Amino acid sequence: MYDILIKNATVITVDPKHHIYQPGYVAVQGDRLAAIGPMEELPAEAAAVKVIDADGLCVMPGLVDAHGHAGHCLTKTLGESNDTQYADAWWGKMAQDIYFHYTDDFFWYAEGALAAAERLKFGITTGVSMLGSTPRPDRVENLAAHFEGAVKTGLRQMSGVGSCDGPWPKHPWTWENGKPTEHTLTPEQMVEITERSVRELNGKHKRQICIVAPGSMGFNVAAETREFAIWKNKEMYRIAKENGVALHTHIYGGGIKFVYETLPEALNPTTSLTHCTQLLPEEISILAETGAVMFHGPTTRANIKNRCPVYETMRAGASVAIVTDGTSPDRSYDIWRDMKVFQVIHRAHDNDPLLAPPGKVLEMCTIVPARAIGMDKDIGSLEVGKKADIIIINTKQPHLAPFGIMPLHRVVYHAQGNDVDTVIVDGEIMMENRRMLACDEGRILADAEKAFNEMRARVGDKFEYFTAYDDSIYDLRNKTMPSPYKD
Ligand SMILES: [Zn+2]
Repeated sequence: MYDILIKNATVITVDPKHHIYQPGYVAVQGDRLAAIGPMEELPAEAAAVKVIDADGLCVMPGLVDAHGHAGHCLTKTLGESNDTQYADAWWGKMAQDIYFHYTDDFFWYAEGALAAAERLKFGITTGVSMLGSTPRPDRVENLAAHFEGAVKTGLRQMSGVGSCDGPWPKHPWTWENGKPTEHTLTPEQMVEITERSVRELNGKHKRQICIVAPGSMGFNVAAETREFAIWKNKEMYRIAKENGVALHTHIYGGGIKFVYETLPEALNPTTSLTHCTQLLPEEISILAETGAVMFHGPTTRANIKNRCPVYETMRAGASVAIVTDGTSPDRSYDIWRDMKVFQVIHRAHDNDPLLAPPGKVLEMCTIVPARAIGMDKDIGSLEVGKKADIIIINTKQPHLAPFGIMPLHRVVYHAQGNDVDTVIVDGEIMMENRRMLACDEGRILADAEKAFNEMRARVGDKFEYFTAYDDSIYDLRNKTMPSPYKD
């Protein structure tokens, strides 16, 4: 007797042999996949506690979004700068200002739940987040609150802190009774909190994984010395290695060469390097040689400002995963959207409409990121013995019908996050008919609104700059808006 039996579906496995069963079945026992195959091989006597007749629907492995930012779901849309001189700096500074000065535990809790709910409802069963924009590593409690909100939704949450970008020391605030207290955070304290976070929070819940996630591992000449950058990177790598957790960071051109020259052991197949824009040719070779994985966010501002050499890197033999980098200032955790943007931008760049075929793209949102975060033995494909992380797509809708021919093309080209009907994580049904079962979605939305309003009240008058815009948004390009950070 199985616990769950899904039958009569189109089953896209993403397994090494690229099996698609049409019609097929998937059986779950406990938290694992017990059997998968074509319907004609399902024994007549097979029974289950819960039988899902998915006739005409599509079953796939849960998606893996291997890079995002805790906090961003409560700062999205804000900070629309209108001047190239400080376009990203303004948004980035705003986010840093909010995260370091105007948040409390409830903010991180409510945002953690909201973000996890968004991911889960789009079919993501494992999500990776860095706490803050450049991480805020002054208290274990911030990250603990984020995890508490996230895991109650049913999502497998992998999150971390690590070194934030300089200059040092940092001066984060905590809030009590409506009043802020400023603290000083030294690099040594950052290392201590990062290590404590991993030791205290990793595995506290079965779907809670705490990793090491420094904001960057490159060398920022303007904010630190070379010796400091080397020390910081060594400490981040040491904590990850000693605790057996993933190392996850942003990096840009020059940064990979810097790490390779100063700490080559930190570049390995479970090191994830987000953005990788403006890479030097030798850095592509370094990725191929070391196996470190490029995390590419096609809809990110980093990718808009500077090109990420995705296909050059894959042709050199290195791995690339697609990530949302969700959700601020202008993105979403709908990773289906990123699949399509990925195809369009790279096809357009190479003038090749068949580049980035659907199977490759789907692997870049499932098994490739699973491998990069060290979890491919458990997640990333539908194979017997792996964790039962399964999504069912409602294909009985005008934009997906008639469903059946070229099913992998159909879902990658035409499906979107809201088409995910059912989500199973660890063998537990977390969403059915788009209704979340493990948590109260209305409460998550109400908490998010409360946390947002409280943050806004703490920011005070300055908040009007974060939402300011005028009729120039109808022009070819926005005009310059006033900024509290202009000087
Ligand atoms: Zn990021």
